[in-house]
Amino acid sequence: MDAPDDVQQVLQSLRAYLQDLLETGIDGLPLLPAGDTHNSGNNAIAEYSAEADKPLCGSVADIPLANYVHEDTVADMTTCGGMETLDDIKTQLDSCRYCSLGASRTNLVFGTGNQKARLVFVGEAPGRDEDLQGKPFVGKAGELLTSMIGRMGLSRDDVYICNVLKCRPPNNRNPLPSEIESCTPYLLRQLRVIGPEVIVALGTFATQTLLATKEPISKLRGTFHDYHGIPLMPTFHPSFLLRNGPEFRWMVWEDMVRVMNLLGMPVPELKRKG
Ligand code: URA
Repeated sequence: MDAPDDVQQVLQSLRAYLQDLLETGIDGLPLLPAGDTHNSGNNAIAEYSAEADKPLCGSVADIPLANYVHEDTVADMTTCGGMETLDDIKTQLDSCRYCSLGASRTNLVFGTGNQKARLVFVGEAPGRDEDLQGKPFVGKAGELLTSMIGRMGLSRDDVYICNVLKCRPPNNRNPLPSEIESCTPYLLRQLRVIGPEVIVALGTFATQTLLATKEPISKLRGTFHDYHGIPLMPTFHPSFLLRNGPEFRWMVWEDMVRVMNLLGMPVPELKRKG
């Protein structure tokens, strides 16, 4: 294996490790200022904490719907009485340049499934497979999500699946706060058009964006939260489940049982192995 591959592999492991920390509620590590390897780092910790208190994308939950949209689309929404369709939103996204990801994507990954779904799953951002196919959750994490939806007695056509970001961040890096801020209005409009009875937020980014909070997912999952009158269940992201033990899959299943109960669906019994 040559050096660049080695470096790639270390970076990949480090990214996965940091992603798992994030998913379990640790959303930062104290850093010493550059060159200061002796200082205890207290200042850096204090600075980090101040930064961490800032909401990711403003207070999404507290502002009127008309304000969710990018300024130049408010007029469109009001002239059509706010009755836009998913196709209207997708058409705008086709030429979106609010952040730089639109220029580097292969395909827009808008969302798939039932446009009148009772249940919507919201993930983080398209990865490589999704970017190539233009559909959300079609890679390894997608297989896991699809199988979970199947265990719930549903198919992908029964539910709606989308992401916070509609374009792939390079090398599957985490979404930047500015990208989330630029893309969130599209997601909020999507949810508004679909009007689901329940939303499942998959992972930290979807949860923190929709609930406008910095609370870790490990604290938020397991109970419903209010998203503009729609019950929202945060749960672990399928990619996190792929990297961690079966106990986390059970926690996600318990969250899905809560969702099925709320929707009045029959709850299949799953046998726990071992
Ligand atoms: N991870 C996500 O958050 N979304 C996808 O579409 C695929 C992987």
